Amino acid sequence: MTCEPLTAQAVHDGVRAELDVIDAAQNRLRSICTDLAGNAFRIEVAERLERHHRVNRGLSLRMFGEIAEPVDGGTQPAGVKVRDVLASRLRLTAAEVKRRFRVASRIRARRSLTGPPLPPEFPVLAAAVDAGDVGDDHVEAVCRALDRLPSAVAPADREAAERTLVRHAREQDSNFVAAIGTAIGDCLNPDGTFTDEDRARRRGVVLGRQGPDGMSRISGWLDPECRAYVEAVTAAQRPGRPRPDDADGRDTRTPEQRCHDGLKLGLKAGVESGALGQHRGLPVTVIVTTTLGELEQAAGWARTGGKCRLPMSDVIRMASEAIHYLAVFENHSARPLYLGRAKRLATADHRIICYARDRGCTKPNCFEPGYHSEVHHALPWSEGGTTDATNLYFGCGCDHMMATEGKYTTTVTEDGRIAWSDGTGPPRVNDAHHPERLLKEEGDDSG
Ligand SMILES: [Zn+2]
Repeated sequence: MTCEPLTAQAVHDGVRAELDVIDAAQNRLRSICTDLAGNAFRIEVAERLERHHRVNRGLSLRMFGEIAEPVDGGTQPAGVKVRDVLASRLRLTAAEVKRRFRVASRIRARRSLTGPPLPPEFPVLAAAVDAGDVGDDHVEAVCRALDRLPSAVAPADREAAERTLVRHAREQDSNFVAAIGTAIGDCLNPDGTFTDEDRARRRGVVLGRQGPDGMSRISGWLDPECRAYVEAVTAAQRPGRPRPDDADGRDTRTPEQRCHDGLKLGLKAGVESGALGQHRGLPVTVIVTTTLGELEQAAGWARTGGKCRLPMSDVIRMASEAIHYLAVFENHSARPLYLGRAKRLATADHRIICYARDRGCTKPNCFEPGYHSEVHHALPWSEGGTTDATNLYFGCGCDHMMATEGKYTTTVTEDGRIAWSDGTGPPRVNDAHHPERLLKEEGDDSG
């Protein structure tokens, strides 16, 4: 695509005028009744609308690409992250904003510090996206197929693979493109030659959301070394081996259950060994907080410093077997009654209180859990703020830094919570880690 440089004002006027034309045309389209159009015509319209959708997506990705690397240096208010602004204005999840930036970065010309811009990583795919010939799912299938080619594949073969994949993406659905991608991979790498870098690139484990029953789905790719460890701990859970917690000593577990238990025992041994070092001033361990009422009843759920809800029966068993950090609170208050710990550290106690009271980052609408948070002084230490639990709150790395840099101010509310303000509105507290408060507010509104 050629692009003649215009003044910023001319660009704004031109683009807005064209978007206005599209808006007006869409309004007219919506008002036309298609009851008597016939299905052949409807298919024709659906095909054209799909094409519009893809052209739009191409234009949108162009904006994401330019936002990520603005030639004009970009103009946005200092301290505000452009990703946050996009997520909020477009009402997209942070993950979706990130995904679009990632896709855009692969199909946009790349800036070079010296000399003219470099071509996009995938130039043929870029042209197809720009023309509106392919959809999101095609882009994903093409990128995935090209990413899976090992580094041993020659650049010319890689380019040929991209051309072939995009040609099929222009004519077929994304499942077909994915199948072509697998076939190309087999053809270009018949001996299955993969380097350590190829494996390192693909490795990754996704720990899914915890379900209402407390279970979590895990998926991903293990490198050979990781698999070797999993196999070793799973093999130790071999059938026929007596199990202490089984009355008649028979192991009736399935292979999948033995693999799960092997992983669990391996991780538990790792945490208990103390060999994992420290994380933010506390030994790497499980941090659990609960209230006295729930502990006494041995029922309900406790919370960990991650995002995990842990059944109270598990908490009690874990506490009896190993040293974990356990904080017990008076019912429905932030007053700590008991702090169990392996080693006394004043700063560690404060951190545990933050785990219990804040559960995670206290900046409004931030979902970062406690394990990812730093301890923030509501009143800065430099301004006479004390290192006292009533002045210490959780902030994730990013938000804590912005508060330290003065991009947010924080104040302690009457009920002992911390409220954040960026100066554009009243200070607000974060209910993201406290669903019970969110529900209470809804109830208050209706009542
Ligand atoms: Zn945060």
